[in-house]
Amino acid sequence: MKIAAGTRILIATHNAGKLQEFADLFAPYGIAVCSNTDFGLGEPVESENTFIGNARIKAQAAMQATGLPALADDSGIMIDALGGAPGVRTADWAEGPGGRDFDRAMRRAWDALEFVRAPEPRRAAFCCALVLVTPDEGEVVVEGRVEGRLIWPVRGTGGHGYDPMFQPDGQYLTFAEMTAAQKNQISHRARAFAKFRALCLG
Ligand code: IMP
Repeated sequence: MKIAAGTRILIATHNAGKLQEFADLFAPYGIAVCSNTDFGLGEPVESENTFIGNARIKAQAAMQATGLPALADDSGIMIDALGGAPGVRTADWAEGPGGRDFDRAMRRAWDALEFVRAPEPRRAAFCCALVLVTPDEGEVVVEGRVEGRLIWPVRGTGGHGYDPMFQPDGQYLTFAEMTAAQKNQISHRARAFAKFRALCLG
């Protein structure tokens, strides 16, 4: 499905950083974006157990509320020795009494690996799903992944989330030690974007 210049797409998020990333992706193609915030939309319950399933819930809810084509993403980390956990619960692992804390989430992941005596290397993958739905029941689904290993102690101060404990395959640096430009060349989100671009843009 190609998206025509002049189309307005609703990005199903309240996150200003994500909105900007999508705005940058679409701008060269003459496609404007707006977000859930512009329409005062709430957050639907993400009840599926896959990234694609939850991205679809968010995109469908936004499209049904506004009648606009809607694009949503869902992402997280899957740890091999933990059967793919935390997966769609990646952000939840950071929740605690004082709000989200990713130092706690990384500690929890590492403690769980110690508990199951996971062998080294402790393999994991970041995953990103993108789902676009249109009012005429069109749908585009893509996924990007980046494989690597988890390390302890964590290294680096850049990025966000679990970046300081993730060393992508073929790299010496963790995601948190890379510049944004370096990470954006190989990240799960960049790979999902590239697939989406090839299918829908230009
Ligand atoms: P969501 O897709 O915005 O719900 O994000 C899910 C969670 O996955 C985030 O809160 C982060 O903890 C984690 N996550 C997603 N992408 C990355 C990344 O590139 N680096 C580190 N953590 C990430």
